[in-house]
Amino acid sequence: MEVLELIDKLQFTHNISAEEYEFIISHAEQMHIDYAAKKADHTRKEFFGNKVFIRGLIEISNCCKNNCFYCGIRRDNKNAIRYRLSPEEILQCCKNGHELGFRTFVLQGGEDSFYNDEILCNLIEEIKKNMPDCAVALSLGERSIESYSKLKTAGADRYLLRQETATEEHYQKLHPSEMSFSNRMKCLENLKALGYQTGAGFMVGSPFQTEENLARDLFFIQNFKPEMCGIGPFIPHMDTDYNNFPAGTLNQTLLCLSLIRLANPKILLPATTALATISSEGIPLGIKAGANVVMPNLTPVSVRKNYSLYDRKAVTGNQAVENIEILKKQMKAIGYEVVVDRGDFLRNK
Ligand code: SAH
Repeated sequence: MEVLELIDKLQFTHNISAEEYEFIISHAEQMHIDYAAKKADHTRKEFFGNKVFIRGLIEISNCCKNNCFYCGIRRDNKNAIRYRLSPEEILQCCKNGHELGFRTFVLQGGEDSFYNDEILCNLIEEIKKNMPDCAVALSLGERSIESYSKLKTAGADRYLLRQETATEEHYQKLHPSEMSFSNRMKCLENLKALGYQTGAGFMVGSPFQTEENLARDLFFIQNFKPEMCGIGPFIPHMDTDYNNFPAGTLNQTLLCLSLIRLANPKILLPATTALATISSEGIPLGIKAGANVVMPNLTPVSVRKNYSLYDRKAVTGNQAVENIEILKKQMKAIGYEVVVDRGDFLRNK
């Protein structure tokens, strides 16, 4: 089958093989990427119309016990200026976001032991008490099933944990030996079993990634059926061992967004900050390629630059919450509308 036929097959069956994903990736030319984006946009409009959901991203701490080889806030990066927001500061960020029309807050951070279950549960309860119409999403890495369960009971609705790569050998090239692929996958299973709206995802063009690896990520998302999927290009960080690897490309990221939308029509799919970082048109192009979520940065400006996962991270322009009006205008200009809504996963539609 040709690339265009495979894209049609994905649109109608939502189910192709890993080999078929690999064929698309390895043969995709501009016209195929544009074709996939058009189909993906059509599919998204069937379920979401022209709505774009916004999530307020709060980067609660850049302290991390892990040492992921690609990540700028890894434990061994002595040049990182570490910070940690207090629960009170985080609550204040949420309140600011609420006034601006945000109804989902994403608390993301390194794996920082300060944020134990008790502190987090109290914080989540406090957010929910103050803003009962909001959803809380966490993105705080690997924790025990007991911990995930307590956080859920405290009111957390969603959890984002990218698998990073669905191929074990590749996972081991990106992470030190004390981290394991099987635990990452187990965590994703546990989150789903506990009833979280669960987000998986991966980097496009990460070091050592082959077309087969990338195809396996797409195949994994198709079959695991997460409610959300975070993908963005890998971008090197100067203080990591992988500082000399090239960044993932705009085109390959856009193609992946479109294929994910076709495989999982109802998925909540952000056009990510990493995409905005490699291209000033990243967010609008991502939306046009099938994404339906944007996550502006609600982190206090004073520490925002320190949450440096990769070089030149976009923390201004349409990625900054102060500029929410710019984002709204940008979306309007391409025919979409930013809405005030929790933007939950559509279960029965
Ligand atoms: N500690 C949390 C949050 C990690 S940061 C966790 O383990 O899930 C959020 C995401 O940023 C990661 O999942 C990773 O995919 C992405 N990221 C990290 N370093 C990156 C880089 N150099 N380029 C692009 N994305 C990166």
